[in-house]
Amino acid sequence: MKPNATNGRYLKWFNDIEKELWRLFALFGDLCARCALQTLADSESGRREGRADWCCCMIDNQVHDNWQALNANQNRFDSGWYEKLQRLELGRMPGNGPCPALGPTGCQLKKVRPITCTTQLCNKMLAVLNKLDLVKCPAHSALQIEDFLELPDILPALYGTARKPQRVSLNEVEQYLATVRELRFRFRAIPAADRQAAIDAVADQYGLKIKT
Ligand code: SF4
Ligand code: SF4
Repeated sequence: MKPNATNGRYLKWFNDIEKELWRLFALFGDLCARCALQTLADSESGRREGRADWCCCMIDNQVHDNWQALNANQNRFDSGWYEKLQRLELGRMPGNGPCPALGPTGCQLKKVRPITCTTQLCNKMLAVLNKLDLVKCPAHSALQIEDFLELPDILPALYGTARKPQRVSLNEVEQYLATVRELRFRFRAIPAADRQAAIDAVADQYGLKIKT
């Protein structure tokens, strides 16, 4: 197998890892929906304070930031993927957002999203994890998951963006999956009411007043 190539096996492994991360992110319940609704309300009212904490997909544009690799990888599944994206009428948002892949119910990329989207936990998510004693890390700004979990550095190679040719083994993929799964299991083992209480407390802290 040619190293550093976005071959089918590497993309399949990348997709296995992003699915495991999405299972972890699902445990944050309604946090992202509340964040998105509050961002819309704040944007419509002309509010400027706290814009750095707005919904990440509305103030960021990972599609164009990662265009070359993302387009190559998405084209493997659907050459018309970009034209099919349904655009939200959000007008101008901070940063270079909104991301064109953001649709009415969230990200429209069904697999092989940019690495940052796949591995980033925002300050609110980090605050929830810290509040529940699942991690101990700074929570004032977003981190990539490898900033607080020990994980093999394989995602750029799987995605086709590694600077140098790099072979990835199945063992490294399994190690990555197991480490994320272990955090998810500890998160899931916390009673749902306690998890929700932590999410509610962080939502209050960040002024997310709209409930879903
Ligand atoms: S900023 Fe955080 S809470 Fe808001 S949409 Fe993004 S990941 Fe979810
Ligand atoms: S690609 Fe999807 S997850 Fe990433 S910023 Fe765009 S809408 Fe959000």
